[in-house]
Amino acid sequence: MQLTSTYRSPWMTEELDDVRTLARTFFQKESVPNQERWAEQHHVDREYWNAAGAAGLLCIAIPEEYGGGGGTFAHEAVVMEEQSAAGDDAFGYSVHSTIVAPYIARYGTKEQKQRWLPRLATGELVGAIAMTEPGAGSDLQSLRTSGRLDGDAYVVNGSKTFITNGTHAELVIIVTRTGEEEGGKGLSLLVAETDGLDGFERGRVLKKIGMPGQDTRELFFSDMRIPRENLLGGVEGQAFTQLMEQLPQERLIIAVGAVRTAELAVEQTVAYAKERQAFGRELMTFQNTRFVLAECATEVRVLRAFVDQCVEAHVRGELDAQNASMAKWYATEKQCEVIDRCLQVFGGYGYMLEYPIARAYAAARVQKIYGGTNEVMKELIARTL
Ligand SMILES: Cc1cc2nc3c(=O)[nH]c(=O)nc-3n(C[C@H](O)[C@H](O)[C@H](O)COP(=O)(O)OP(=O)(O)OC[C@H]3O[C@@H](n4cnc5c(N)ncnc54)[C@H](O)[C@@H]3O)c2cc1C
Repeated sequence: MQLTSTYRSPWMTEELDDVRTLARTFFQKESVPNQERWAEQHHVDREYWNAAGAAGLLCIAIPEEYGGGGGTFAHEAVVMEEQSAAGDDAFGYSVHSTIVAPYIARYGTKEQKQRWLPRLATGELVGAIAMTEPGAGSDLQSLRTSGRLDGDAYVVNGSKTFITNGTHAELVIIVTRTGEEEGGKGLSLLVAETDGLDGFERGRVLKKIGMPGQDTRELFFSDMRIPRENLLGGVEGQAFTQLMEQLPQERLIIAVGAVRTAELAVEQTVAYAKERQAFGRELMTFQNTRFVLAECATEVRVLRAFVDQCVEAHVRGELDAQNASMAKWYATEKQCEVIDRCLQVFGGYGYMLEYPIARAYAAARVQKIYGGTNEVMKELIARTL
């Protein structure tokens, strides 16, 4: 491939090369042929989760004693890159593997880890995280979903929206107000096992401008009883701190996907520009096309250097909130810019959904919104200055 053949991320190792081959083979074989059907049905097949688990791709950074792959964040990054390279915007892998499983691994009691992690690793359970509510997204401290302790269970009432993996999720981490305190202090993470759970209801699948194969849904809770033993970590009022600790990883994985998707857009556009003719010449011979692609290739390379630096820092356990926020906003901003410029090179074909560049354009937009909006990222960075 044009753009990436001359560059190797400094955090790559021979073992990670093998993981990359495994992931690439999996996504090419199991995802690519199904993407159109998934887009029509608005979710991946449930068995796809089990297949990913059987291939060893789920929870690859979770310790082996809990059924995971025993790897590092670099393993997760490789899988994420290969998912992006396969053009798979339907599979909620990153929510499951790089958000839900790490919350349990980091904060769960031994019993909770033993109970949930091995089943997340095989794909027997699909994970989701439910923070956002109709009335509160960026402002997590004003979340209202409540959990009142009644005997041996929390009685949960409220609703969440925009929840990735909303169709298949059987294990949902719900940010819930369990205390009277205002702001973040009263929030706890309750883990709902949704199979046969009274009071748990999945709302409609939301119609999005991109990522049609990803099941983004509303969730409703009505006097839903979650056993007290499902309070993550066993201590109330910890959610806000837990979220603040884990959000940098979520932001970095978004940046990792952004870089790979932008690289792919440049690779696809170079190939197209060398093939498509106008005025008797290849598009690639027009100076504008050459300059646009030279600029995009450079922007993406510079971006990759920074994101690679963040990946290395995170593997060492040294990624701070400032750099994670910088990576998230900058990578997603560049992803959108680069894909937009590449799409232009395709002319009218760039607007047609049968072309990957059109789907990448629609999918990219949300990257500036979820995982903390880019405006919130800049606020967080500014606070550190
Ligand atoms: C496809 C998709 C998948 C998602 N998946 C999940 C999921 O799995 N789980 C989950 O919990 N959530 C999920 N989300 C929700 C997502 O995280 C939120 O949409 C996001 O946090 C923004 O919240 P909001 O939509 O309520 O916007 P708001 O918070 O209402 O923000 C509206 C606008 O105001 C700006 N703004 C808000 N506060 C500030 C401020 N302090 N300074 C400057 N500007 C500000 C924002 O940047 C934005 O431009 C998903 C969203 C989408 C679209």
